Amino acid sequence: MTKIPMFELEEAIDRQPLTVAPTLPVAQVLAVMERQHSSYVLLMESNQTLVGIFTERDLVRLTAIGITITSTPIEEVATSTVTTIQESDIYDVIRTLNLFRQYNVRHLPVVNATHQLIGIMTYEGIRRLLKPIDLLRLWRVSEVMVKSIICADRYQSALSLAELMSDRLISCVVITEKDPSGFPKPIGLVTERDILHLQVQGADLSQTIAADFMGSPPVFIQASDTLWQANQYMRARKIRRLLVVDERNIMVGLLTQTSLIHMIDPVEATLTIETLQQMVGERTVALDAANEKLERKALERKRAKAALQQQIYRERLVNRTAQRIRESLQLDEILVTTVSEVRQFLKAERVLIYRFQPNQQGAIAAESTDSNQTLIQGNAELEAILQEIDPTFYSCDRIHSIPDLQAQGLELTNATLLKRLQLRASLVAPIFAQEILWGLLIVGQNSQPRRWEKLEIDLLKQLATQVGIAIQQARLYAQLAAANQQLLRLAQSDGLTGLANRRHFDQCLDIEWQRAIREQHPLGLILIDIDCFKQFNDTYGHQAGDDCLKAVATALTQVIARPADLVARYGGEEFVVILPNTNEQGILQIAESMRSAVQQLKIPHRSSSVCSSVSLSLGAVTWVPTPHKSPEALIGAADQALYQAKELGRNRVCLGGVRLLETT
Ligand code: GH3
Ligand code: MG
Ligand code: MG
Repeated sequence: MTKIPMFELEEAIDRQPLTVAPTLPVAQVLAVMERQHSSYVLLMESNQTLVGIFTERDLVRLTAIGITITSTPIEEVATSTVTTIQESDIYDVIRTLNLFRQYNVRHLPVVNATHQLIGIMTYEGIRRLLKPIDLLRLWRVSEVMVKSIICADRYQSALSLAELMSDRLISCVVITEKDPSGFPKPIGLVTERDILHLQVQGADLSQTIAADFMGSPPVFIQASDTLWQANQYMRARKIRRLLVVDERNIMVGLLTQTSLIHMIDPVEATLTIETLQQMVGERTVALDAANEKLERKALERKRAKAALQQQIYRERLVNRTAQRIRESLQLDEILVTTVSEVRQFLKAERVLIYRFQPNQQGAIAAESTDSNQTLIQGNAELEAILQEIDPTFYSCDRIHSIPDLQAQGLELTNATLLKRLQLRASLVAPIFAQEILWGLLIVGQNSQPRRWEKLEIDLLKQLATQVGIAIQQARLYAQLAAANQQLLRLAQSDGLTGLANRRHFDQCLDIEWQRAIREQHPLGLILIDIDCFKQFNDTYGHQAGDDCLKAVATALTQVIARPADLVARYGGEEFVVILPNTNEQGILQIAESMRSAVQQLKIPHRSSSVCSSVSLSLGAVTWVPTPHKSPEALIGAADQALYQAKELGRNRVCLGGVRLLETT
């Protein structure tokens, strides 16, 4: 048995059918039907035997053929061969619906096995049971409506309308009139029930025109609406018909309960179910595809997220390491930091930086190993192996990743060299400074092979770039430092003689003064003046004077030996010497050595009043400074000693104003 669960046909049985005795006059029967709002009445014998059925359709038929019905017993006009259905068959929806269609009936009395009436099934009852099922949702009104609408005008008599209905086997006639554009416009509706109503009232059907009794025009529904909407509509308004209009509001059909039921044709239903199944299938495929797409997207998102996280982590790590590498501007420090950071970073056994030099004179600049390994750096034999490395292999900025140096088929010379360093696996990144291959960053694994991850390779490459930048910076810094040094020297030195200038002398004297106070050492000072230098210039010219000054400066410088000693040009043809931690004996010795050194130069000075060659007068002084004295006072004392030397005839040394040495 076919049971479509969405149609509980059993529920469609009205178990209290409207029954009358077969002998009841037609007029009374009609009154009962009217009262009960029933479209039928069953004729029952007193022994509960069903003997006939009388429906609205029968009434219309009788009316059409002009039978006057008043006191006639109903059994005479009713249909006596009643099509019934067995209660046990009501689960078979196909059979049930076939019966409705086959006999073109709208009422099916239900009987039990002994043919006793137990209820009735009507279109009305079945329609009430329709549920919001896909079947109804799928169908459009336009697909099941009755397209040929029977129309009549308002002047048609009730009798002619009843004939029309009877002839065409229809249950209603639409009363229309033409609108200004010529289209028929519904103004009312005449149904079987209206005819019944007139009969009950005893109206003269041939004299009553449609306009007098027609009901309001049928409610419209759009042809594109679904049957489900139509069904809901009928239910809500308690109507059995809907006039179907198109989008221009022109009547295109009629939808009745009958057509609603007809669409549940078994064949149609099968087709519909197949369509539904196909749709479900298609939807499932689409859903699967969508699901797959979603899953793919989710996976992609997950991967992208992981990649992003890894990238962030890597960037952080590189930044931190790069920061440490670049913290210093001293190349040595940079390289040492790099090897140690990279080793930690890659958890490697050995990291070294090899620096190329011309003529294969390269060397390991820094190395870091874990505690089990011995350094290659400093091992001449091993370092020599590295010197054989061919730099051209790396000059195109390639990373050399070797998971196992013991593996067969190592054709690359450089790999063979690395193997000779007793490395098992290695990762080599070139270091470029100012676009020139500077060296190699070598990560090595001694004990076991190691498959280098792409991430590790990328990291090493980035770090090698950072080292290159750091080297470049260190270089620039060194150049800058040298330039600064040069500037400082220039700022501190005398342009002519190259000695410290007066400014530098002042600074040094202050420093040495303070130190001497702290250490309570004697601080010696010698003021030196070339004798009769004005005459020298006058005699030999200014240029010769300059040359003489330079020669004297050199001679003076050659006398001093200690790094803390300082010879400076004090101004013009005067010089000054600071001699920290020098006692009187020492200072006199140096002063005399200076005087003598200049004499030894034997620079002719024919206009000198003192000597035939250039000579010096020197004032020397040495104090253990105290906070109550000042450097100026020390200079003053030396000046006085110099003055004394001049006074005493020049070409001599005076100590603290006392003439000590005199030349003849
Ligand atoms: P005294 O023996 O008393 O020191 O006599 P003097 O002529 O050396 O001393 P004075 O102070 O009269 O003259 C110093 C001269 O030194 C004057 C100046 O022409 C010369 N002089 C100073 N600075 C320079 C210099 O840079 N180059 C040259 N060629 N001469 C200089
Ligand atoms: Mg002078
Ligand atoms: Mg002089």
